[in-house]
Parts: sequence; C-alpha cells; structure tokens
Amino acid sequence: GNGTIPSFVAAKDKLLHGLLAAGFDDQSCLSRYHSVFFRKESPHIPSPYLLKKLRKYESLHEKCGPNGQFYKQSTEQLRSGHGSRSAECKYVVWISYSGLGNRMLSLSSAFLYALLANRVLLVDKGSDMNDLFCEPFPANSWILPPDFPIKEFTNFDIKTPTSYANMLRSKAITNHIDGASTHSLPAYTYLHLSHDYDVFDKLFFCEDDQRVLDNIPWLLLRSNNYFVPSLFLVPTYKEELRKLFPEKDTAFHHLGRYLFHPTNSVWGLISRYYNSYLAKADERVGIQVRVFDEGGTGPFQYVLDQILACTVKEKLLPDLSPGQEAAVLSPNARSIAVLMTSLDSGYYEKIRNMFWERPTSSGEIISIYQPSYEGHQQTEKRTHNMKALAEMYLLSMTDTLVTSAWSTFGYVAQGLGGLQPWILLKPENKTVPDPPCRRAMSIEPCFHAPPFYDCKTKQGIDTGALVPHVRHCEDVSWGLKVV
Ligand code: GDP
Repeated sequence: GNGTIPSFVAAKDKLLHGLLAAGFDDQSCLSRYHSVFFRKESPHIPSPYLLKKLRKYESLHEKCGPNGQFYKQSTEQLRSGHGSRSAECKYVVWISYSGLGNRMLSLSSAFLYALLANRVLLVDKGSDMNDLFCEPFPANSWILPPDFPIKEFTNFDIKTPTSYANMLRSKAITNHIDGASTHSLPAYTYLHLSHDYDVFDKLFFCEDDQRVLDNIPWLLLRSNNYFVPSLFLVPTYKEELRKLFPEKDTAFHHLGRYLFHPTNSVWGLISRYYNSYLAKADERVGIQVRVFDEGGTGPFQYVLDQILACTVKEKLLPDLSPGQEAAVLSPNARSIAVLMTSLDSGYYEKIRNMFWERPTSSGEIISIYQPSYEGHQQTEKRTHNMKALAEMYLLSMTDTLVTSAWSTFGYVAQGLGGLQPWILLKPENKTVPDPPCRRAMSIEPCFHAPPFYDCKTKQGIDTGALVPHVRHCEDVSWGLKVV
C-alpha cells in the first residue's frame, strides 16, 4: 500500500547482512533500504565483529549525541576550558571541508577513528551535508548543534595554536609517556590532518600520541584525505582492525555503505536516472573522466585517446567494425549501457558519435549516457553537489568501472560499489601513458598524503613497505592503500 515497503523488498536483504540497523523510518530516507534493489549483491560480507561494534557505537551515540545530558555536560566543560579525565563521552568533530569525494573519504576515516578510539562522531554540517545525506545513526543526530561553543573551528588551519602539533611545540602538551600529566590536558585539541600537515601533526599516527589524545575529550578534526591506511599501521589499532575487517580492503566499502545514504532529493536523481537509462541494459560500464590539466579547459584529444585505448585494450567496450553499413541485427543482441561522468561534455559527445556512426564488430548495442556537464567544480553550490553525489552513486551501480587517477570522486564510486576499477593513469606532457590504464589492486581508496615516519626510531621510513596489506597506490606512487 501507500508508504509501505512492497513485499518483494522484504525478500531482499535490505539490511545488507546486518550492516544497517533496522527500524529507521523508511519514507524519510528511501535510499537506506531501497538501494539494495539497484545493486548486485556485494560479495563482501561484514564481519560479525564489525556488526557488534556498530551496534555498540549506536548506543554510545544515542547516549552521548546531541540532545542529551552527557552532551550538555561535556560542552559545558568545553566552555570552561578544562578537560575531565573520567569523561564518559569523548568526541571527534569532523570539520566540513573540500570537494565532495574528499569529504566522504575523510568523514569515513574519522568515523573509523571514532570506532577505534571509542569516541562519538559529530559532523559539522557545512553548507550542504544535510541536503546530501540522511542521518546514519538511529536515535540521535550526527549533526553538531549550532550552539557548539567553539565557533571558530571553520577557520582552523595548520597555524592554529590549539592544534595538537602546535600545543606540542609550545609545550602546552607533552607526549613523553612518563611526563604526560593528564591534569594539564586541555578540553579540546585540533587535529590538522589535511594534505599540508607537518611532522608534528603527523604524530597523530603514533601510539604514544594516541595515548595522550585518549585523555582529551574533544578532538576537532579537519582532513581532505582517506587516512585509514595509516591507521592500519598504528600498533594500538592493529588487532581491532584485523577483527573488524578480516577482508582488509573492505573498510571503506562497509563504512561507506553504512554512513552514506543519499537524501530523498538525491535519491530521486539517482533512481530516476538508473531506471531511465541503465536498468534494462545487459551490462553497465562506468567511465569517470576527471582531468587535472592546468593548461586550458579541454576536451583534450589525448584524454579521449586514452579512454579509448584503455577500453579497447582491456576489452571493456567492443571494437568498431571497419565499415559503416548496417549489420543484420540479432533480435537478442546484448546491450551495454555506458555511464560517463565528467565536468566536460566533449568526451561523451565524441564517444557517443563513434558508436552511432559505425557498428560494433560484436553486434552489441552500445548506449552512451552522461547525466551532467557542470563545466567546473562549484563546491559551494547545493544542486552541484547533489548531482556530484548522484553521479558517484550511479557509477557505483555499474558492473565494470573505469576511473581517473588521483580522483577521490572515483574512489568513492569504486568503494561503494565494491568494484576494482581500471584506473586511467595520469598523463604526462599531454600524451597517452603506456599502459593507458591499470587494474586496481583493491577496492580501497588511496591515502594521498601519508606520513613516512617510524614512531619508534623517530626516523623516516617507507610506510608502504612495512606490511603486505598496506602498499603504495597504483595512481599516486607515494600514496598508501590497503590491499
Ligand atoms: P576529486 O577532486 O576528483 O578528488 O573529487 P572531489 O569530489 O573531492 O572534488 C571534485 C568536485 O568537482 C566534485 O565534488 C564535484 O563537485 C565536481 N566534479 C568533478 N567531476 C565531476 C563529475 O564527473 N560530475 C559532477 N557532477 N561533478 C564533478
């Protein structure tokens, strides 16, 4: 009937093997329980330990989240400027910052950190987090209330005196274990984990510093990076991460599917597009084109050549036959829907014309679609980010995915979809790289700015060579990813 879930929904595993909590209001966030109909079932099943941890987190969030006595007490302490060693509720406040793909990666990293450090995650809603995502936790909000006492956090940066790094420098905090007096610890500190962070900020990834941070009730965190791979290298969290993710490269896959439920407006964009253009095809191929070329606006011939070189070489799309004549169409010819995303319409137009002007040698029917061409990044615009989310999500619903090197937009799509993409490697000097693309080692995003520091010996070290499951990325040679 009206407003209820059709019975066939119940037959599907709408809770994703227990990843999602039951009991949310269905209508207020349709994507939460309905996205399962738009995807193939994930081969990755969340571990019972992760499910237990999430349920435990949900009750902590209910207790400590906004609109409760603990939150009130804790913010009063923050106003008074003093921490309390025995704080029952400790927090991580995620500061909204950067492009949407970057935001989703840093937010999921902050959530994993909250799980590991037994903290409650609160989210600065920024200009549009409310418009984009539903509340992920039952029973209490994740949005930081507007009366939060520290107003200036939106301007926090590497120079902020209350950052952990700067407090270490000014000796307002000490990280020597024997000297660490918890009396003198502040009520909050700012964790600067953005790409421009320095050696002191990077101490966040050291065991001793985690021990100090554990005694500070409020951590305000700003990052534009997926810093999970380096959490896998902190001794404090190794064992817990092993239990949470026996399949190591599924952290973003599960946490992303747990956290990110598009609001009904965004879900409208997603589901209408999917039903109109993608649902009926025998196969769906996603091609994400993100061009980081400073010299001009494009479209660039070398980018088009690279896309075609990759899709033909890897047989992701069929060859065109040499002639132009109509072939006899088999009544049960396979159809392939190609979903392209790009800020530019040029690549899409060229590829669509190619497949119009000549038949495929396989006889397959190719349709090329691109939902939007926004021209340039407009992070401050609400509808722009809604379309960006819709497109990342649509890419995640494809069967085969091609992404662009360096792009967090592509990482989100691959991670949510559980897809090991072919990565279009970064072109140098406007020429097609050889090979044009490479299959990703895993479905995890790449951490673009990892620390290269050995906390024990206090020396530089190659953090991509310490354990077999944390390696350098395919697309960013100094980056780290979990494989
Ligand atoms: P990254 O810069 O590729 O790592 O990804 P981000 O998502 O962090 O920032 C890029 C931003 O540019 C996106 O959030 C969008 O606002 C915009 N953008 C880039 N590529 C596309 C695209 O293919 N489609 C749409 N709609 N927006 C895009």
